[in-house]
Amino acid sequence: MVIRFRDYGKRLADFEQEILVRCPQCERSAKVLTVNSDKSSLSSIKRITCQHCSYTKQQSKDDN
Ligand SMILES: [Zn+2]
Repeated sequence: MVIRFRDYGKRLADFEQEILVRCPQCERSAKVLTVNSDKSSLSSIKRITCQHCSYTKQQSKDDN
């Protein structure tokens, strides 16, 4: 698995990560973008996007 960090020219305080995973729809490489919106809590939002089949899904930890 390849893990990449994309630098948008911001500091690490923004805590955005891009992780390559397998798309649940077409089983090709998709990206998981994790955004820790509040660093004082464990809440985070995960957004899966696939460039191959346009699959997108957004998931919040609060949904669990
Ligand atoms: Zn896909």
